[in-house]
Amino acid sequence: MASSQPSHPPSWYHLTAGDAPRYAPPGGSAKTDVCIVGGGFTGLSAALHLAQAGADVVLVEAGRIGYGASGRNGGQLHSGQRQDVLWLEKKVGFEAARTFWDIGELAKAHVRNLVERHEIACDLAGGLIEAVHKPSLMEETAALVDALKDRFNYRDIAMLDKDETAQALGSEFYAGGFRDKGAGHLDPYRFVLGLARAAQEAGAKLHEDTRAILLRSGRTVVTTHGTISADHVILATDCRSGEIDKISRRCALGINSFIVATEPLGELGAGSAADILPGNECADDTRYIVRYWRKSADGRLIFGGGENNSGTIPGDIAAYVRPHLEEIYPQLSGVPIAHGWSGLVTVTAPRMPFVREVQPGVWAAGGYSGQGVALAPYVGKLLAEQALSATGRNADREALDHLALYTRLAIPQLADWDWMRRAMVTAALWQGRIKDRV
Ligand SMILES: Cc1cc2nc3c(=O)[nH]c(=O)nc-3n(C[C@H](O)[C@H](O)[C@H](O)COP(=O)(O)OP(=O)(O)OC[C@H]3O[C@@H](n4cnc5c(N)ncnc54)[C@H](O)[C@@H]3O)c2cc1C
Repeated sequence: MASSQPSHPPSWYHLTAGDAPRYAPPGGSAKTDVCIVGGGFTGLSAALHLAQAGADVVLVEAGRIGYGASGRNGGQLHSGQRQDVLWLEKKVGFEAARTFWDIGELAKAHVRNLVERHEIACDLAGGLIEAVHKPSLMEETAALVDALKDRFNYRDIAMLDKDETAQALGSEFYAGGFRDKGAGHLDPYRFVLGLARAAQEAGAKLHEDTRAILLRSGRTVVTTHGTISADHVILATDCRSGEIDKISRRCALGINSFIVATEPLGELGAGSAADILPGNECADDTRYIVRYWRKSADGRLIFGGGENNSGTIPGDIAAYVRPHLEEIYPQLSGVPIAHGWSGLVTVTAPRMPFVREVQPGVWAAGGYSGQGVALAPYVGKLLAEQALSATGRNADREALDHLALYTRLAIPQLADWDWMRRAMVTAALWQGRIKDRV
């Protein structure tokens, strides 16, 4: 799959983080307890937890650490799963929906704990405004907020009417929304670099520019720089390992999402910076083609809007995203955009993560469907616990139960041909655009 993908420009985070440490390819073949493929949130969190538990871990990353989705996303730390609790309750019943909600709570706490414990400077901040884009959705949004408060015991959430939403966003565009004080946002690339540092300090061996190309005799990972024989393998590639794992690839699709970073708003004059997200919360909306935004620590608007199938990236991303930004913030008409970039959001058909043992002793995870900032590091921890248990070490029972819950979700396989996969995304996005307008 990778060969037919256009390459994504570096993110604003990549361009401004300074020189990231280099992790050299392995000097030759090696033997290890656990081999992890993929250096994003999932893989690095798994590596950190395994190394801390005393396991021997080797992680290989095809490119640079954090150049996949983990270093180029909106940085929004969401509550729950991508599907809300009412959807989940219908599909899997109240008890499982309740556990999925609790997993979301643990996942956010896990990120906060990692940031604090490993002193990761990633501008972690609290709060999210979910903006409702049409009045007809306000009733179901209120039902969701009531259910969260009354039956799922979540106290950090409150409905906002149209005026309160306008005040919270600095935009009159939306019909209303809710405030989630328990959610938050961060600089994702600095977070992923911090995870890599912590994993290495704990004893994990990290290797960049090392692509896994073949799985031989089960758990022997053949890479571009030698062979790694492992007792256990974790494919943390967001369902994009290439030829070595077709199962997870078939269960997920990639959708290009586009983001820009403006110049610092404070320099635009006339109070525009202070009025936009005055509480320094992040925001997203209820549209199918979702828009998501927040302010960076230096006062830029980081704004994501517009999606297409994974086949093409527009030449001028700033021009592609600008109409979305200016529709919500007409006061920012003509705002200078410092940089635009893109990334592949991996989604599954039910918009719930794919977590599976794809062959004996080989686990794969991904397809967080736009919810991976909180969930991917937590799933990395769950995969680490599974690897500990499989290699005869003590493992956390609750983590294994959470992993098992994910594995029981039905995630249908999709087409294998690139052209058909792109056609499916294009059709879904057109349907979504129509839905967003009526
Ligand atoms: C533009 C954008 C905006 C987003 N916004 C948000 C948001 O605001 N909030 C949120 O919760 N989620 C968001 N997401 C989703 C989130 O970023 C992902 O769910 C999450 O980063 C997935 O992490 P990961 O570690 O599983 O995958 P990745 O970060 O993609 O890491 C996988 C790594 O595996 C490597 N790899 C692949 N194949 C091989 C191989 N054969 N050998 C070696 N290495 C290999 C890749 O190079 C890559 O570095 C967004 C995603 C994008 C793209």
